[in-house]
Amino acid sequence: MPPMPAQFGLHYPLWNHSREAGGLLDRACGEIGIDHLTIPVVTGPLQQFRPGWFGDAPSFVTEGGLHFRPDSRRYAVAGARPRMARWLGQRAILEEVCEEAQRRGLGIWLWVELRRVPTLFEPERHFAQRSAWGDPAQPPSACISNAGFRELLHAVIADLETRAPRGFALPDLALDDLQPVPVCDAAACHESAAVDKAGEGSGAASLCYCPACRAVAAEHGVDAEAAARAVRVVLCDAGDWRVARVGDPVVERYASVRLAAGAAALHRLAEPLGAGRCMVATERLQRSPMAQPAGFPLRGALDGQALPPGGSSAYVGHSRFCCRSPADDRAAQAFVRDVSEASARGGIIDFFNLEEAHPRLMDVLRQAVRYARRGG
Ligand SMILES: [Zn+2]
Repeated sequence: MPPMPAQFGLHYPLWNHSREAGGLLDRACGEIGIDHLTIPVVTGPLQQFRPGWFGDAPSFVTEGGLHFRPDSRRYAVAGARPRMARWLGQRAILEEVCEEAQRRGLGIWLWVELRRVPTLFEPERHFAQRSAWGDPAQPPSACISNAGFRELLHAVIADLETRAPRGFALPDLALDDLQPVPVCDAAACHESAAVDKAGEGSGAASLCYCPACRAVAAEHGVDAEAAARAVRVVLCDAGDWRVARVGDPVVERYASVRLAAGAAALHRLAEPLGAGRCMVATERLQRSPMAQPAGFPLRGALDGQALPPGGSSAYVGHSRFCCRSPADDRAAQAFVRDVSEASARGGIIDFFNLEEAHPRLMDVLRQAVRYARRGG
């Protein structure tokens, strides 16, 4: 299947819409000519500092959660329900933005980062990833081995489907990222460039030993406690524990059986449910630009054995560009060239953190998109 032609969009947080009433959106539509908005609707804690756009109130901070009003009936089966972020109050801003997008002829992609929503862990402490010593990850991050967490993810997606999005970005569905290997800042600026580094995988300190992971290992005849013990010994002795690896075959097997199980379980999102329908078809799910396993689909899901029958690897390609104001003309030209290269591969191209950049960056974006649309 040929790649989908490049579509350009703006990562558009709802809290900025509420403050600025569409000024940023007007300029993005009028000057860049975007095709869609990617809206973060579920996130962990975050903060933005945006003096160029919001001079009177440049700081925005949220503890995270759902940035929309959930339909509580959809969460009855899942048992747990993450709370709405407090800034939202009683407003229905997602609905407002969806309507506005429709009026402007823009598609909507919904960005769901469920694993780090803090209110998830208050009633459901067992969701959290745990180290080889049994300590919960700090700040907490949910483990995808946990079936309850996956049910909740399905409920969130079913709830959001009522807003008729083009599809979903599920960027944080990783296994074993308790201690992510640090990626250099320059590479993180354009996330596709970070693929090779992240693709090397995480070190032993990142492996999760939560009860759900231990249960998966036991089902496959792997001694989770022996694997945890081997990791503890190596980390206590390592020069740099963040990048330490363990050559022990029990640890390798512990890592691989859980990865295959987690990948297969996540793929149920895209498996046919009956009558050819599935919850979300793969062509409506974005492939995370960050390499696997730090992204969806998980590594192991596409190499044969973990791919369910009827499953497909037709995820939407995706590149994201951080909107930092370029230091000089050369940096601006490099940005334009990088966008053009990414667009040649097709798929979704998103610009993020535009609110944090100087409003003049809009000129660089306009040039980048025009140049990319002309085919470089
Ligand atoms: Zn786990």
